[in-house]
Amino acid sequence: MRDAVGHAPSQPDAALSEALLAWYDRHARALPWRVGPAERADGLLPDPYAVWLSEVMLQQTTVAAVKGYFHRFTARWPTVAALAEAPEAEVMAEWAGLGYYARARNLIACARTVAGKHGGRFPYTAAALRTLPGIGPYTAAAVAAIAFDEPAVVVDGNVERVMARLFGVETPLPAAKPALTALAARLTPARRPGDHAQAVMDLGATVCTPRRPACGICPLGASCVARARGTAEALPRKQPRPDKPIRHGHVYLARRRDGAWLVERRPDRGLLGGMLGWPGSDWSGAPDPDPPLAADWRRLPEDVRHTFTHFHLRLAVHVAEVADDATPRRGSFLPAADFRPQALPTVMRKAFHLALPALEAAP
Ligand code: SF4
Repeated sequence: MRDAVGHAPSQPDAALSEALLAWYDRHARALPWRVGPAERADGLLPDPYAVWLSEVMLQQTTVAAVKGYFHRFTARWPTVAALAEAPEAEVMAEWAGLGYYARARNLIACARTVAGKHGGRFPYTAAALRTLPGIGPYTAAAVAAIAFDEPAVVVDGNVERVMARLFGVETPLPAAKPALTALAARLTPARRPGDHAQAVMDLGATVCTPRRPACGICPLGASCVARARGTAEALPRKQPRPDKPIRHGHVYLARRRDGAWLVERRPDRGLLGGMLGWPGSDWSGAPDPDPPLAADWRRLPEDVRHTFTHFHLRLAVHVAEVADDATPRRGSFLPAADFRPQALPTVMRKAFHLALPALEAAP
């Protein structure tokens, strides 16, 4: 492989893969969903449900953030069949805070498809996994490789970074994606492909990190083009992204004197679909909508600030203490005993944390 996508390292691909596996055998991270290399060598196989659940949770999220969610999910729903039978609202509430809520809805749809159409067993090839709801090329390849040892090519941000550096790929992302995938395919061995996939992920997460990669302890260091050129930290190059627009909206937080909160389940489709939230506007910047009930509303001096993938959001927060017989035009009151702020998506929880002290301080 030459200048079109990068330079050939000094070792052949098979030697690089072997070096990586030997490093993984010594340094694999202990993760709650993982069967480590020693147990794997003893014949222990990973639970495909745990692999799938962790991979869905890990998209756009860190390992540290996912561990607690993974433990809670598997304690509550230990099998894909149990998750398939769970009420959707409970799964969404347990997912709250992880973000990207379409993933949670797809998680439920996928569990129900596996339970209903596949007898509770995950298909074991990447191609068959791709037919399940919410499983894209990355998750299909990761589950097929890690759970079933298919030599599927697993490419996430970590893998792209390692490949760009190892082979000195100067083309910026996203244009470089096909070339980086081809390079990752070259390194994927027929022997232990599941461990290989996890080894590249671990290397990217712990050694070949975005900033200050630890090239001195890297098992690929002797062959790495970027290390030799001193360009590691500059790779992978990225096309500059356009600035995110700022959107504006309003939320209304009403609390009854008996402690019940006025909440509203968001429509299934769209951002935060199916999640519990506060009644409010549609974030299009339209004028302040009618409040959800007649009350003495106060607008708080501070707005909620939150950033989604494609835009920043500023939400004006309105609060009111209302009588126990108040009748809302939209939403419904959730009794204090059933209200859990943790069941709200992060942006709605931010509004709650602004509103609560204002309501408590009210005369
Ligand atoms: Fe990454 Fe450095 Fe290893 Fe190259 S030598 S793969 S830049 S950690």
